[in-house]
Amino acid sequence: MTLKKIDINKIRSDFPILKREVNGKPLIYLDNGATTQKPQVVIDALVNYYTDMNANIHRGVHYLSQISTDAFEVTRRKVQGFIHASHDYEIILTKGTTESINLVAQCFGEAFISEGDEIIISAMEHHSNIVPWQMMCEAKGAVLKVIPMDSRGVLDIDIYKDMLSERTKMVAVTYVSNALGTINPVEEIIRYAHDYGAAVLLDAAQAIHHITIDVSKLDVDFLVFSGHKMYAPTGIGVLYGKEKWLNAMPPYQGGGDMIKDVTFAKTTYNELPFKFEAGTPNIEAGICLAYAIDYMTDIGLEAIKAYEDELLEYATLEILKIEGVRIIGTSEAKSSVLSFVVDGVHPYDIGVILDKLGIAVRTGHHCAQPVMDQLGIPGTVRASLAMYNTKEDIDIFIKGLQRAVDMLK
Ligand code: PLP
Repeated sequence: MTLKKIDINKIRSDFPILKREVNGKPLIYLDNGATTQKPQVVIDALVNYYTDMNANIHRGVHYLSQISTDAFEVTRRKVQGFIHASHDYEIILTKGTTESINLVAQCFGEAFISEGDEIIISAMEHHSNIVPWQMMCEAKGAVLKVIPMDSRGVLDIDIYKDMLSERTKMVAVTYVSNALGTINPVEEIIRYAHDYGAAVLLDAAQAIHHITIDVSKLDVDFLVFSGHKMYAPTGIGVLYGKEKWLNAMPPYQGGGDMIKDVTFAKTTYNELPFKFEAGTPNIEAGICLAYAIDYMTDIGLEAIKAYEDELLEYATLEILKIEGVRIIGTSEAKSSVLSFVVDGVHPYDIGVILDKLGIAVRTGHHCAQPVMDQLGIPGTVRASLAMYNTKEDIDIFIKGLQRAVDMLK
């Protein structure tokens, strides 16, 4: 297969924020793991929503309500196509990854978890794929187990296999680690869980804009991700769930839209997907998500991944030329994240100096405190890549980092 090269100049010109300066220097944005910037088509769609079509959805007979509803529902079908789900009603639009995981933990827990049942997560989860399961386990008397990882940030799949049993009801793991960049062997993880009848939730927050995901081929039970990490606005996210699970789960929240019929004596619930979508959603962000998906699809996820992989390889080689740098997360299968520490220097101090140079990176535990605890470090500096980053960005970052290290050592 020949990969389509991406037109980096065109892509950069699509993101207006990349033209701005920070602290008198051109912005070098390397905090894409936290959130990505937005292309002009998405910004235009947001403005257009309020300029031309603002109305509440699913409720009105009037024109604006109908066009807003149609646009919102286009997104549901767009997401369905993007992740290859069998039905559009298996796509629940939420606030984001965190809400999607909380929804599954609470509602799946209510329907399927009893005392002594087991939930498996991994050692490299974001807090949002730890805490909701802890809360559910506490409420239900269930047991939380953790797949260990080694010092490279690679999960021990043999131990995972041994952890599985008839008691295992859910395996919830990240596709790509936000702190380490590790791409986990999700096909294997799903297959082994299914041997025991356990459901699998994949946290795709750091994967969805880098890796082509086919939920039907993967046979995954739940997939969650956030719009804002894939070039769409904040406040919108996705929960994909297999129909058989979603239908058997109770609603998450009560309110408008999620009901079929309400009396003071009894309420009956709406069908999928509305059963899980109580209240007015983030309509404008929802509509914009379709534009972000189109934007990525037009460029091509395979081409984006190939480009980002090349960039990560380059950044990895360059950063290792700086004395005292240690990369955190050295799995062979990695995506778009370069996490590192520098001997004798606090990550925060590096972040502050880089910021003065117009370079945005993230420092700290990246909401993955157990990862830092296991590795015995307070945190890392994380440069995370997106399709609009360039080798020039990396060169400026490396030069800035060398300067910061020289100043701080
Ligand atoms: N999971 C992973 C792997 C993440 O990287 C993040 C955010 O950084 C989340 C979950 C939470 O996403 P959100 O804050 O958009 O709900």
